[in-house]
Amino acid sequence: MDTRPEQLQQTARSLAAKAGLPAVELRVTAHRGIAFAEQNGSGLMVTVDDALLDASVPVQRAVIAHEIAHGALGHCAPRPLRSRIGAFLLALAGLPVLAVLVATAPHPPWWCGPLVSVDAIAMLAFLALTNSGLRRREFEADRYAARTLREPATAEFARWASERFPHGRAPRLLRPWWTHPTWEQRLAALES
Ligand SMILES: [Zn+2]
Repeated sequence: MDTRPEQLQQTARSLAAKAGLPAVELRVTAHRGIAFAEQNGSGLMVTVDDALLDASVPVQRAVIAHEIAHGALGHCAPRPLRSRIGAFLLALAGLPVLAVLVATAPHPPWWCGPLVSVDAIAMLAFLALTNSGLRRREFEADRYAARTLREPATAEFARWASERFPHGRAPRLLRPWWTHPTWEQRLAALES
């Protein structure tokens, strides 16, 4: 019988106890990200990719510690704000559709073009702002994992992650709109 998922669960439990989290559950599945944490009714739920089963113990601990850190820092709490942001984005996204509808009318009003451009710029700016907040949380979680849980993200962790999950890497031009900093930025932040 494969005891590796149970070992990951044990790691999650001991790190959660260190972080003062009452309950944690760990789930191993195949998906397109390394890991994520979410808050459910009974506590923190950490989901890790099954690629983690073959990683070295320090890498496993670093991945799990980072997710526990998100939980301990309250990053996973359900947020009414998030749904409000969603509604705002939806409203913004609806505007260009409306604009296109008006613009394809036989005699489009003059303000259609400017409306579409202003709306597109507003959406890009808003997304950049939201995602810079998300990137800041990654640095916070890395710091918490390193200082409080004593499981820092190491160069080995970064190497493993960028080899196994190369799609997680943002092209340079798109970085302001990415939800995660690069591995280089994260390791550099830990060293500073
Ligand atoms: Zn994270």
